[in-house]
Amino acid sequence: MKFATRAIRVGQEPDPATGSINVPIYQTANFVFQGVGEPGPYEYSRTSNPTRRAFEESLASLEEGKHGLAFASGMAAIDAALSILRHGNHVIVSENLYGGTYGLIERVWKERGVEFSYVDGTRPSAFAEAIRPTTRMVWIETPANPLLQLVDVRAVAEITRRRGLVLVADNTFASPYFQRPLNQGVDVVVHSATKYISGHSDVIAGAIVVNDAHLFEQLSLYQKIAGAVAGPFDSWLCLRGLKTLAIRMMQHASNAQRVAEWLAGDKRVESVLYPGLSSHPQHQLARAQMDGFGAIVTLRLQGEMEGVKRFFDGLEVFSFAGSLGGVESLVSHPWTMSHQSLSPEDKNRIGITEGTIRLSIGIEDADDMIADLDKALARV
Ligand SMILES: *Cc1c(COP(=O)(O)O)cnc(C)c1O
Repeated sequence: MKFATRAIRVGQEPDPATGSINVPIYQTANFVFQGVGEPGPYEYSRTSNPTRRAFEESLASLEEGKHGLAFASGMAAIDAALSILRHGNHVIVSENLYGGTYGLIERVWKERGVEFSYVDGTRPSAFAEAIRPTTRMVWIETPANPLLQLVDVRAVAEITRRRGLVLVADNTFASPYFQRPLNQGVDVVVHSATKYISGHSDVIAGAIVVNDAHLFEQLSLYQKIAGAVAGPFDSWLCLRGLKTLAIRMMQHASNAQRVAEWLAGDKRVESVLYPGLSSHPQHQLARAQMDGFGAIVTLRLQGEMEGVKRFFDGLEVFSFAGSLGGVESLVSHPWTMSHQSLSPEDKNRIGITEGTIRLSIGIEDADDMIADLDKALARV
């Protein structure tokens, strides 16, 4: 079956008890035993729950992986993926990273005696050069926030496979509709399901998908024992989101392409970063490893903060908010939001200026988005 069919069918058979066409929200903590020493298929919802199971199976199928695990947030999923590390292990990380992941590494996992090196993710050889005898894992995010740099997944997977390292990819920005890293040699895919997977900005959730049976055993043990599981209602919202993932992503991406091309042709804009533009330095790589270019578009304005503020105040179709991946278009300011904890020098060094603006392109009409941007740019 193809993607859009699996999104609606896999893991979502009509409920055996009632024939309900939708997987019910099994809002229960526990399940009765059939007799002494005879548990039923479910016992306790931290361990396993039918609604969560349905979401896990559905997402695993869309990632073309064998096993899915659903968590209470993207960060809980990321923490679970890191849980296979032990004191003294070393991890190589692509340096353009979601801020929460950076915080979890710096404030929690380094304190636990795990070592991390950050490398330029756009250069596959940088990963090979950073390998130490204690290296256990490589962590990549592609495309990355907010400058849309890509990591060449196949090239990095070739390095990790030869050295027996676990390769983890955060696939949040592309979603499984546009990129399936397990097919390119990645061992563990992590997601913030808060974003495109649920798609409506109404739930916090996360997920992991793997193929390897041993990794699955380790990660599912951690999920059950540590217990940061997705609840039944949140799992149901994610499952409902998945049903429309294919059509949403098509609309998100075609809107993003139009907006990016329009911005690129406007003299008031200093530069536009979008993997779907031929001017993007990794456009060819994006074509090779993705089925579409996603819907995050970053632009840079020249000049003073005052002009940037007037731009934000002039927008109506774009809501000024963090996060991304919902049906509504959003605009955010990395300098004062996602990257505020970095010093001005560090921000400038990694390419985030005061005038850097991130758009999460929704599924409204692109004409309205363009008219809105035109109006706001006139105020700069
Ligand atoms: C949002 C996000 C996360 C964290 O997910 P939460 O659901 O907010 O915990 C991780 N990685 C990326 C790329 C994200 O955009």
